[in-house]
Amino acid sequence: MNAAEPSSAAALPRPSGIRRLALAVSDAVLPQTCAVCGTWIPSGGSRACDGCLASFEAILWRSYCHRCARTIRPESLDHRGCFRCRNERIWNIAGIARAGPYMHPLSTLIVGLKYGGRERNAAYLAELMAEALCGRSWLADVEALVPVPMHWRRRMQRSCNHALLLTQELARRLEIPLLRGIRRARYAPSQMRFEVASKAKLFENVKGCFALSRLAGLGWRSVRGRTVCIVDNIVRSGATIHEVSKVLRKAGAKRIYAAIAARTVVPGDMQAKIDAVPADVPP
Ligand SMILES: [Zn+2]
Ligand SMILES: [Zn+2]
Repeated sequence: MNAAEPSSAAALPRPSGIRRLALAVSDAVLPQTCAVCGTWIPSGGSRACDGCLASFEAILWRSYCHRCARTIRPESLDHRGCFRCRNERIWNIAGIARAGPYMHPLSTLIVGLKYGGRERNAAYLAELMAEALCGRSWLADVEALVPVPMHWRRRMQRSCNHALLLTQELARRLEIPLLRGIRRARYAPSQMRFEVASKAKLFENVKGCFALSRLAGLGWRSVRGRTVCIVDNIVRSGATIHEVSKVLRKAGAKRIYAAIAARTVVPGDMQAKIDAVPADVPP
């Protein structure tokens, strides 16, 4: 694995030692419970109970498009991606890895992290994302993980910065530096708030939202010539990844990939027929 040092010490991962220590202590003191449903796991040693593990098994590890992350049958994929990707030009990244479709129990973990402040869900999600990434040949080329930044107004509404937590956990697991090279330049409503929205509307919502960090060592100098991987929790239309990628490309990134926890299910997905129950998305 390529774990090249960033150009600045400020770009190195900054795992919260105190937070991790606190979680480790609480893990040792509190009974082991399922991260998804909260059921006590008498034997311990697992993040989820047998029932939730079976539910994970039903939705994870299905084939998906390496460009848009939709669940697609293997026979419908080629090196250019799925049928839509072969006919659309919105995906401006070289490849994407995902843990699974945005369905229970994956969605329950994400909702718990984003809206319930359950920070230990980030470790579980990162574990699943790391497994997905290890199946991608390009992981060896990735020199830095770049979290999708959260606007300070959104941060005040949420109990944690979920994309940053995911990236910190991934960086620790994969031993790849975390690079906070992108900042929010403009506030925009969450993409998940739009229950029904055209692709154009979702792209318009995040247009111009991102810019290079102004902090010393985190701007274009840390991005230029590097292969980077954007990290986010959910992809719906791809608009956010698209916008972040534009900034990174303009800054001279050599190659850009993305890693996400889940991809929303859209009509035509293989998964949509398997389980039509959508995940709860709080307002
Ligand atoms: Zn469970
Ligand atoms: Zn595709």
